[in-house]
Amino acid sequence: MYDEQRRELLDTCLEMLRLDMVIGSSGNASVRVDDQVVITPSSVHYAIMTTEDIVILDLEGNTIEGDRNPSVESPAHLIVYNNREDANAIVHAHSVYASALSLLNRPLPPIIDEVVPKLGGDIRVAKYAMPGTKDLANHILEAIESRSAALMANHGAFCIGKNLGDALHNAQLLERTCKIYLTALQVGVPAQLPEDVVEDEMDLWEMMKEY
Ligand SMILES: [Zn+2]
Repeated sequence: MYDEQRRELLDTCLEMLRLDMVIGSSGNASVRVDDQVVITPSSVHYAIMTTEDIVILDLEGNTIEGDRNPSVESPAHLIVYNNREDANAIVHAHSVYASALSLLNRPLPPIIDEVVPKLGGDIRVAKYAMPGTKDLANHILEAIESRSAALMANHGAFCIGKNLGDALHNAQLLERTCKIYLTALQVGVPAQLPEDVVEDEMDLWEMMKEY
């Protein structure tokens, strides 16, 4: 079942590993197919993961296929799919700069033109809750409203996309922008984009999520 999506999901995880966005079995990813979700298993290192380790869930979290436990963050993936029609894939990374910024507990402001049309305006920080909890899932849903990405306090990054390639791209874009922001913060106060520009670019985000 869903051979193509399993392969693509595994390739996405290997790319996260190559990009140093995760280590071992940390982070997770999924893709929606109709009313089911193809998701990474819990506690299987990406380097040895096969397509058979991948789990298929329905949107209520019942296992449709697979012997492994689904990712511990399945509640967060499911609540986002159930509430965001524009989310067809999710990448959750433990990338260094997004995680570092999440410690400061303040949003990533709109500072770079290419970011707003892809991720939305300021990228909020989901309040802290223990990994895998319903509370964390609720905090992520709240933080990612009208955005394609959220930071997770003391944890990492959570990005949605039209497909897995798009979600991974958004995670890379978020990571890169966090790095730029943190670098600038070391020497001064980073300037934000003009407000009217951010408004226009937010309109672009609204338009682009439909395609
Ligand atoms: Zn995590």
